[in-house]
Amino acid sequence: MISYQIVEHGKPLQRAVMDTPKPQGTEVLMRITRAGVCHSDLHIWDGYFDLGGGKRFYVKERGCVPPFTPGHEPFGVVEAVGKKVKGVKVGQKRLIFPWIGCGKCAVCKAGQDNYCVSGSRFLGVNRPGAYATHVLVPDPKYLIDTAGIDDSFASTLACSAVTVYSAINKLPPLGPKDAVAVLGCGGLGLIAISVLRAKGVRNIIGCDIDDAKLAAALKQGAKSTVNTRAPDAAQKLQGIAAAVDLVGAPATAALGIAALRKGGRYVICGLFGGELVHPLPPIAQRAIGIVGSYVGNLQELKEVVALAKRKKLKAAPVTTRPASEVTAILEDLKAGKILGRVVLAF
Ligand SMILES: [Zn+2]
Ligand SMILES: [Zn+2]
Repeated sequence: MISYQIVEHGKPLQRAVMDTPKPQGTEVLMRITRAGVCHSDLHIWDGYFDLGGGKRFYVKERGCVPPFTPGHEPFGVVEAVGKKVKGVKVGQKRLIFPWIGCGKCAVCKAGQDNYCVSGSRFLGVNRPGAYATHVLVPDPKYLIDTAGIDDSFASTLACSAVTVYSAINKLPPLGPKDAVAVLGCGGLGLIAISVLRAKGVRNIIGCDIDDAKLAAALKQGAKSTVNTRAPDAAQKLQGIAAAVDLVGAPATAALGIAALRKGGRYVICGLFGGELVHPLPPIAQRAIGIVGSYVGNLQELKEVVALAKRKKLKAAPVTTRPASEVTAILEDLKAGKILGRVVLAF
């Protein structure tokens, strides 16, 4: 098998040739045909997340040690199965759920692999990922049939769409007039708007610093937009029931939290970086919620796939490029040159 590995953080990925693993027991060997390139792959490439105040979280602390193969939006074809595998056959195309937990702790057993407390096996995060021709999956239950959905788009559901979907699942119960702000209208923001609409939310406010992205948000179904660089942005957002922060920067957090009405909720899943300093009494007095959301669980990914099959998810533009261009793609992503999502093809 061939994989594209981070050998040194921030340096070009290296093409490595190694033995293809043989699946044992319940394992399934997938031949990867598509792998989405996610913004968080840039943090893995750099080797750290910015915690603000000059502090960093290094990815080696969670088991991502070079040489390492990233890629957590995997899609492929079943190439071989272990003796105990049931329910999938060689040759079938499947989306791979990458947020695999230990499978044994109470959290995993409750279906929350993404919050595993005793040894997660996240593909492309602390296990070899999908920037490779082959990936070993521990159990066929992590494979999802996406028939009818374009293969490249399907791969992006595994992180970008399920992350947004899970964040939206954490919103409080909403009345018909309640406003929800979507902070950041890039690829994730546009999916968020379509998920909110699919859930019946109508008063959606798209927020960004880029007018072109705001125009796209309106087209996607936002009721109104706010350019957050405008001096009256905070005033315009005042009284929202909820904010979904897909950026995760000090400015977006401050804006979203300050604009909440009493009982409102701010959900953060963007990982841009920085820190939050906030007075404590108003959190209690305003009864607001500040909630984090990280990727999503297997059931949520199945629900996302069902939405996509019913054409309820409007895709951000997806471009498919050869896997050998991965370093150039990461550089383009870092430079902000990519609109929507790039998916590697093998
Ligand atoms: Zn991701
Ligand atoms: Zn677990």
